[in-house]
Amino acid sequence: MGTALMSRARFALGAAAKKRKVIVVTFGGGARDQETFAPQGQENIPHLMGELIPQSSFFTHVMNQGILGHYVATASLATGVYETINNFSSLPPEHPTVFEYFRKALNRPPSDAWVVAPSNGFNRIGESECRSYGPGLGARVVLPKHLLTAAMSVAATDYEHLLRDNYETPTYTPQLGGGEFELHQLEMILKLSVDDFKAHAKTLSSPDELSMYIVRQVMRREAPSLLWITMHDIDIAHAGAYSLYIDGIQRTDRLCSELWKTVQSEPEYAGNTTMFILPDFGRDADQDSGGNGFQHHRTGDVASRTTWMMALGGGVREGVIYDQPVQSTDLVPTLGAMLGFSASLSQGKPIRELV
Ligand SMILES: [Zn+2]
Repeated sequence: MGTALMSRARFALGAAAKKRKVIVVTFGGGARDQETFAPQGQENIPHLMGELIPQSSFFTHVMNQGILGHYVATASLATGVYETINNFSSLPPEHPTVFEYFRKALNRPPSDAWVVAPSNGFNRIGESECRSYGPGLGARVVLPKHLLTAAMSVAATDYEHLLRDNYETPTYTPQLGGGEFELHQLEMILKLSVDDFKAHAKTLSSPDELSMYIVRQVMRREAPSLLWITMHDIDIAHAGAYSLYIDGIQRTDRLCSELWKTVQSEPEYAGNTTMFILPDFGRDADQDSGGNGFQHHRTGDVASRTTWMMALGGGVREGVIYDQPVQSTDLVPTLGAMLGFSASLSQGKPIRELV
């Protein structure tokens, strides 16, 4: 306890000099305990187990009681309300997002809240249409695959492996306009030339690798205080190949570790950043007759609703495990208590072990 108090005091002193920053990573889409933190899954997440867990407050029992679709579940994580919007439509969340609470209460500019999202279907996630929040108060949403499409004039087949969209919902992706805006984002905000971006994308093996590449550019160029990254490679499980699902978990594990190293090496983030890692939800249990095991998340059983959450960095106790249940919707009020805003319309409550 004494050590925890000391580290909190040191953090408070350091944070006075630099703005506090929070990064949220969704370990998505859809990872079961048994392939991650359950004893039989731990071999798939060597970086989380060996490097990050010892530095973290770890919650073993996070319940998601909402709709188990990736967009609506991620929107629910971002609003602190179990949203009921159609998972397959490109609609804004119905309740204020964490980005709106944050920017309004702390009077922060648009550049201080960013979302990096996996597919075009997430393009509305940064901002609700809620009265007194909404338009103009949300996050900048960057869609790396849309950037890549905009950056390519020809030869799309070179990037097919990166551009493949949401595995379960191939037909709902909206056709986004605004290619010129995307290129402006790339060149003016992220300081990436189209040629450099394309050349680098060629070396990347997955959409989440592409997202993490963009995340690093955002951190270097804009250094937002609130940065949200939604991963999605794991959802290849819908294709039915267990080995690809495990590959996705292992890759996400590595990318989380690389991101935490980036935090330590970026002057704007080192020493003043708290990072959260949590799956959007689980996947169906092997024994549930209504599902097909790891492949989908359609039964709503315990395995598909129970996940975990890791918090590490500034202001967080290290090496502590908490077994009491928390809700997915508790994330946003917890971020509010940490950053200094009230998530007044959220259904959740601050997690007292973190604030
Ligand atoms: Zn899925």
